[in-house]
Amino acid sequence: MKLETPNLDNPFYQPAGNEVDVFEQAWKNRLPLLIKGPTGCGKTRFVAHMAARLGLPLYTVACHDDLTAADLVGRHLIGDGKTVWCDGPLTRSVREGGICYLDEVVEARKDTTVVLHPLADDRRILPIDRTGELLQAPPSFMLVVSYNPGYQNLLKGMKPSTRQRFVSLRFDFPAPAQEEAILIGETACAPDLARRLVGIAGALRALKDRDLEEAASTRLLIYAALLIKEGMDPVAACRSAIVESLTDDVETVEALMEVVAATF
Ligand code: ADP
Repeated sequence: MKLETPNLDNPFYQPAGNEVDVFEQAWKNRLPLLIKGPTGCGKTRFVAHMAARLGLPLYTVACHDDLTAADLVGRHLIGDGKTVWCDGPLTRSVREGGICYLDEVVEARKDTTVVLHPLADDRRILPIDRTGELLQAPPSFMLVVSYNPGYQNLLKGMKPSTRQRFVSLRFDFPAPAQEEAILIGETACAPDLARRLVGIAGALRALKDRDLEEAASTRLLIYAALLIKEGMDPVAACRSAIVESLTDDVETVEALMEVVAATF
């Protein structure tokens, strides 16, 4: 069996519009970037691609509701009877002049804004209280954050004082021709299979607001293409890779499977 592994040196990215240009301009002008869009639509891949393109080290942090400023900045660790300071991913990326990418930033604890604000405006500084250091970010450092507006609730929204520090990019699911190119680029599947899977995604996304919390992502289409390429029955593959990942409700599963059955 031949496994298609992503090229980590320069990850494949199919652009949708002018996002590559916006990213490069933001980086050249030392501005931080906010990327908003639904899950699985290519935000993380885009940042990885841009880091490779610009030749910068990338530190990616998947934010969660227990993530604190200390997780980003660093902490003292005790070992062998002595205490040593250990940089967190944000501090490391500032020291190295790389990209720090905070995925789902609105999930993080509110104390993280204390370290993000002075880095995200024209001061570009990172105060490290626990060591007494004040780091000035080098010109090549860039802060990139993302969030999914679909998950927003009133408590978790991003504060205007934070969002107005960023240049913003809106991501959405790719247009059909682009999504087919992504499927072929990622899985080397046949163009006809890519076309059918993208057709299913279009039909399922049209149902999104009615029955589903989240629309079918490009990631799920890739999973289905991989299973089918390995010889799995297409209908069974779509059930496992797409439909069952979208909903737990049995009736909704059956309704979505009708869309699949009409295609294969
Ligand atoms: P997000 O960060 O928005 O949740 P990802 O960047 O992890 O989504 O994308 C999920 C998967 O979909 C990626 O691993 C990649 O295989 C594929 N993908 C989505 N959009 C693109 C794109 N424009 N170019 C290449 N691959 C893409």
